[in-house]
Amino acid sequence: MAEKLTEIFGIDVFNESTMIERLPKKTYAALKKTIQNGEDLEPAVADVVANAMKDWAIERGATHFTHWFQPMTGVTAEKHDSFISPTSGGKVLMEFSGKELIKGEPDASSFPSGGLRATFEARGYTAWDCTSPAFLRVDAAGVTLCIPTAFCSYTGEALDKKTPLLRSMEALSDQTVRILKLFGHGDVKSVSCSVGPEQEYFLVDKAKYLKREDLIFSGRTLFGAMPPKGQEMEDHYFGSLKERISGFMKEVNEECWKLGILAKTQHNEVAPAQHELAPIYASANIATDHNQLVMETMKKVANRHGLVCLLHEKPFAGVNGSGKHNNWSMVTNTGKNLLDPGKTPHENVQFLLFLAAILKAVDDNADLLRLSASNPGNDHRLGANEAPPAIISVFLGEQLTDVLTQLIETGEATSSKQGGKLNIGVHTLPKIGKDATDRNRTSPFAFTGNKFEFRMLGSSTSIAGPNTTLNTIVAEVLSDFADELEKADNFDVAVHDLIKKTVTEHQRIVFNGNGYSDEWVAEAKKRGLPNINSMVEAISCMVSEKAVKIFGKHNVFSEAELHSRAEIEYESYSKTINIEAKTMIEMASKLFIPAGIKYASGLAASINSIKTAVPDADVSVEVGLLKETSAFLASAKAELGKLQSYVATAAEKEEGVEQAKYFRNVVFPAMSELRKPIDELELIVDKEIWPVPTYGDLLFEV
Ligand code: ADP
Ligand code: MG
Repeated sequence: MAEKLTEIFGIDVFNESTMIERLPKKTYAALKKTIQNGEDLEPAVADVVANAMKDWAIERGATHFTHWFQPMTGVTAEKHDSFISPTSGGKVLMEFSGKELIKGEPDASSFPSGGLRATFEARGYTAWDCTSPAFLRVDAAGVTLCIPTAFCSYTGEALDKKTPLLRSMEALSDQTVRILKLFGHGDVKSVSCSVGPEQEYFLVDKAKYLKREDLIFSGRTLFGAMPPKGQEMEDHYFGSLKERISGFMKEVNEECWKLGILAKTQHNEVAPAQHELAPIYASANIATDHNQLVMETMKKVANRHGLVCLLHEKPFAGVNGSGKHNNWSMVTNTGKNLLDPGKTPHENVQFLLFLAAILKAVDDNADLLRLSASNPGNDHRLGANEAPPAIISVFLGEQLTDVLTQLIETGEATSSKQGGKLNIGVHTLPKIGKDATDRNRTSPFAFTGNKFEFRMLGSSTSIAGPNTTLNTIVAEVLSDFADELEKADNFDVAVHDLIKKTVTEHQRIVFNGNGYSDEWVAEAKKRGLPNINSMVEAISCMVSEKAVKIFGKHNVFSEAELHSRAEIEYESYSKTINIEAKTMIEMASKLFIPAGIKYASGLAASINSIKTAVPDADVSVEVGLLKETSAFLASAKAELGKLQSYVATAAEKEEGVEQAKYFRNVVFPAMSELRKPIDELELIVDKEIWPVPTYGDLLFEV
């Protein structure tokens, strides 16, 4: 397998080595210039690339090509075209032109546009993103050449997740290069951000999944009593893998490797049936495309194994949900990680300046970061004592906090705490080198050695949004820093003062303690840090004066684009809750209440027949159960009625913020109220009668 791995890695990707092999030298050089320096691509070059790509794809069995893009639905989209072109004698040729490679024209009117569509034409374009390599999708549909593309409207507004990400990467690069120049690194031409997303997911048995409409329609269970065992034994995290699961992982890895995805780490997660996959980091754009492919591959492979991969943030109440940790760093084109503090960070002025910039960016824009990690599913996690709190803070650890404290208190940092060696107390065990800083699993934004780990993301979302925000807010601070430092008479003094001033002003954002504790919530309030409790509450910051200014200044989002995106967020929240509520109504009325009635009738019949047979028999158990069942049924019916009327009212509300708030404040709590009596019923009703697989069945019988 080891041999085979190196052979299959990237086999389905039109990557650099394939291009070198198949493109004329001049064409390759021209394409490389476009990829690296953003220079325009000549149509003639595109034609040659398209032809080589087509030949390569056809040799591998491809019949179709597709422009693969990421509309604001959060999932990817594609329209397939075959390569055929008619020729004489009723025959066909296989053709693919540079024009077809560069530009596609999907009808934009069927994708979310948040009102942009009403103002502008419905026409939309996809444009080849040559910075992310084309790849082959091999599945039951055959072999398809997939071309990563950006998606925009007729007038150039971004209608996707990729375009703003690419714009934000450019902004971060431009501003960082300015700063590096001041430090004497004029050789650095560009800076890219590296991202390594750790992906959590659940696997459940497909046959059981298909018996639950809630999983089918909403991706999460809307009902379900806790089984006798949950995650309290802490025996699943890093537990040995069941064969069915490791078989799935093996196939996922192989598919990922063929697609050039550096799938690296896999393990069981905290909750039963929960797992994680982490690739080795890549440039943000490619990492984003790859993460979409990872999610897609996991779903597809699960299906082949009679499993279903759940990517929802909270598929099961009462056990841990799933997130995505976004590891982020900044790397120069000369290969230097700007977030690497070195052994003695107190002497590394350049690092301290970038650190100060990030602290300021996060503190000034905690609301935007919070929003970037929001989706309806993540509302069940953030602040709910399992995932990072909804309050944004930065974990720096002992070493860096100490350096900053020295700076703030004495104006000078003169030492860095060192890790030393760890003595485990057994002579035969090696003495292992100890990091200068411990980890903190409760922090939403943690420095982990040479990168920041943004830990708030939901498992199902594209990582494009959070990285777009992160890149832009850091670019904004760096641009202010550059403005100031470029004017300075004495650079060394100016940098020193700027770092000291910035860390002093923003030290409130640093928190190294337990982010899950109530004390932190109180402390954060004292520090004036925002605690935004839900997605609906978070959305408005997207169109704040500050957001319009920052995103506009760096050409990441125009004001119209921001408004359209806020609109889409509100709508997507309302639609999600509406589907969940309607699914609950359907399941309660057609499955659970009838099951309760059936159970109650059975009890009544047995009471009657026992009484007839033995008039003085003790039927107190049956009578007690019957009364209990009837009481839960009555309560379920009452809550069902309320939920039905709220859903009807919600439909009357004006779409957008008003409707979303109604769903959040009225419909959502009513859903919990309906769930309670049904979950109680589940605990007493005969298992034979209960119409759906239970939490125990789903979580422990994979
Ligand atoms: P943990 O679970 O301890 O956080 P993992 O090894 O599961 O760590 O994941 C760490 C992720 O961070 C991986 O995707 C890894 O490639 C990525 N990573 C490592 N170094 C960097 C870096 N400099 N920049 C961005 N991502 C990085
Ligand atoms: Mg992690």
